[in-house]
Amino acid sequence: MDRIKLLCDISELNHLFRESVSIESFLHETVRMVTHHLKTEVCSIYLYDEDDSLLVMKATEGLNPDSVDQVKMKYGEGLTGLALKEMRPICVSRASKHPNYKLFVGTDEEQYDNFLAVPITRGPARIGVLTLQRKKKKKFEEEDVMACRAVASQLANIIENAKFLMSMHQAHAPVEPVEQTRSIPTGLEFVRGKTAAEGFALGPAHVVDKEKTFDALYESRYDQAYTLEQFDQAVKATEIQLEDLQGQVEEKLTDAASLIFASHLLILKDKEFVGTMRRLIEEGENPPVAALKMARQYIDLFRRSANVYVREKVQDVEDLIVRLIGNLVQEYEKLGDFKGRVVIARDLFPSDLLRMSSENVAGAVLVAGGVTSHIAILARSLQIPMVIANNYDLLHIPDDTQILLDADTGNVYVDPSNEVIASFQKRNTDRLSIKDQIAGMKSQTRTADGTRIRLLANINLLSDLSIAEQLKCEGVGLYRTEFPFIIRNDFPSEQEQYFTYRRLVLGMKNKPITFRTLDIGGDKVLSYYNNAHEQNPGMGMRSIRFSLQNRRIFTQQLRAMLRAGINADMRIMFPMIASTDDFRQARKALTEAMASLDQEGIPYFPSPKVGIMVELPSVVHMIHELAAEADFFSIGTNDFIQFLLGVDRTNETVAGFYIPHHPAVLRAIKLVIDAAQKRDKEVSVCGDMAHQSEYIPLLLGLGIRTLSLDPSYLPRVQKLMEQLEIQQTRRLAEQALAADTTEQVASLLGIRQTGS
Ligand code: PEP
Ligand code: MG
Repeated sequence: MDRIKLLCDISELNHLFRESVSIESFLHETVRMVTHHLKTEVCSIYLYDEDDSLLVMKATEGLNPDSVDQVKMKYGEGLTGLALKEMRPICVSRASKHPNYKLFVGTDEEQYDNFLAVPITRGPARIGVLTLQRKKKKKFEEEDVMACRAVASQLANIIENAKFLMSMHQAHAPVEPVEQTRSIPTGLEFVRGKTAAEGFALGPAHVVDKEKTFDALYESRYDQAYTLEQFDQAVKATEIQLEDLQGQVEEKLTDAASLIFASHLLILKDKEFVGTMRRLIEEGENPPVAALKMARQYIDLFRRSANVYVREKVQDVEDLIVRLIGNLVQEYEKLGDFKGRVVIARDLFPSDLLRMSSENVAGAVLVAGGVTSHIAILARSLQIPMVIANNYDLLHIPDDTQILLDADTGNVYVDPSNEVIASFQKRNTDRLSIKDQIAGMKSQTRTADGTRIRLLANINLLSDLSIAEQLKCEGVGLYRTEFPFIIRNDFPSEQEQYFTYRRLVLGMKNKPITFRTLDIGGDKVLSYYNNAHEQNPGMGMRSIRFSLQNRRIFTQQLRAMLRAGINADMRIMFPMIASTDDFRQARKALTEAMASLDQEGIPYFPSPKVGIMVELPSVVHMIHELAAEADFFSIGTNDFIQFLLGVDRTNETVAGFYIPHHPAVLRAIKLVIDAAQKRDKEVSVCGDMAHQSEYIPLLLGLGIRTLSLDPSYLPRVQKLMEQLEIQQTRRLAEQALAADTTEQVASLLGIRQTGS
């Protein structure tokens, strides 16, 4: 067990990565590490060159070191080629007898007849193969295969980058910089947006438009001449910063600890990259200019690539150079750093937000996206105040302009006066500290008339757990298991998922936990899963459809949940169920996962309650059948509203049509609650409506007694509950259900209608 745990632990690989001086040495250290932990004689890494359809040995421990770069095999050739072609591990105990066996004379491999090859893949992309060989006595076991898969999955991203960089080491024609003009500053004073993640931030603006920053560096004249020594110091400083940041991400977010800064570090470790810069400097070029020249060559090459993934690397090179020059030229010191800043961006990837969080960004304003989009949900988990404001002019604000972000109300103040700042700072200090909020929480929530209400927490990352626990949540009503999947570079293995889930179970100390199976697709994109381009991903191959179509991934997840749920009150819930058929198929997958664990003698929790997320309108018309079969319902209002009303939840321009109090939404919710109550099944709400004070009385009046919400809202919602009388909420719900228009409901609830 120990060796698997060890190999699943990203920190060891990361440590190796940090210690290596070059890509080649990293690969070499990796094969040494695997040889050591798996007690094998040989470990080698082969990289796949798609252009020539060749697998080339790039590192070996145990075989003749002269074989590196010399041993090459065609796609599908030998057992190694077969593993890559069929994208599956090949494990044989008498390799020389296998029809695909191919001996490479001079490698000294004939003495090792036990053979294991595991493909290194990133989604559908074939990157290379990790092979292990042993002498006759000791066969490879299932644990070895699992451990190798874990290593291969962790290595995929680094190796894919390494492979690309290695293939680029040819002379490149220098590319002349293109003249660009800077954006024109505009004078915005106040912008009204929507709250995506609450909080308050005051800090200089940082408009995330990486090209702009990079081009500004290009235009600079660099009057001061720098030395080679100063350049080397700047490289070292950059390396240390990147390693620190990676360390912080790992510490903060153990479940999501992908090597976010890996590609930056890798480029920096690429001998050719820094080496050419040094050569240029030795020939008399000023270091910042040398760095930019070299970067431009890489960027140009990356941009021309047909591979989207390679094109994305442009950003990494730009980021890295901005950071490097920032470390060299004092004037630009702050460029690569988000500390204390309010970021303004068109849109951000989850990995961008994680990086910003590790650099202690003060807040963020996005000019696209919706408040229930997943970047907003992640911002709440990372406690980064965020506003979504549909105003593209914000992108033209000059960097360093002071921004006051009142993410409680969604207001953005650009270059605010001293009075505005003073009044917000006062409000901010008056805010109840988290300590006070914890102290004020009761372990049970009741309405004014004593009706018991259960408040559960929505958990996205394990880092949400501690605050949820401290705020006395009564369990986890929704664990969005996809977040670790979104942030990482490849599908986490069953074992990695098990570790994450088990930590959640232990952290919740016997309270109920509802695991939602993978809900990817829509705005939850996996960078490594190359789904065919979908015109309309919100209605595409997503969620339970994805799981049912990718049974191996689904089964691994279910097995990890069942194993983690031992001795816990665990439930499993399927997202985006559209029909009884979907539910039965998902349930069957669960039964099969249990059978496979039984067969292998692996202990697990045998009797989880199994529920359905109500998110699609079709479910409402099948609700009685589903209530007969499912153990519980959880209403995911974010998607339910989106699909009932046909309004994209991530599109700020149609936000005015996204109306939770639409009579159709309320009537549909009522039908779901009634069907559940008739069969005595639990029903809860876990979408954003569950924390919105204007809708909570209505939900109670409709019959909801369990809400699951982002932990930071727990104190406020508990307080509100204590003021409500069930009788009154019932009357309110009756009136709302009888209303003909959204306007009538809005006036009943005392809310101002916007948009439509
Ligand atoms: C929902 O749709 O309401 C929900 C809770 O799920 P998610 O926001 O993760 O799609
Ligand atoms: Mg949903």
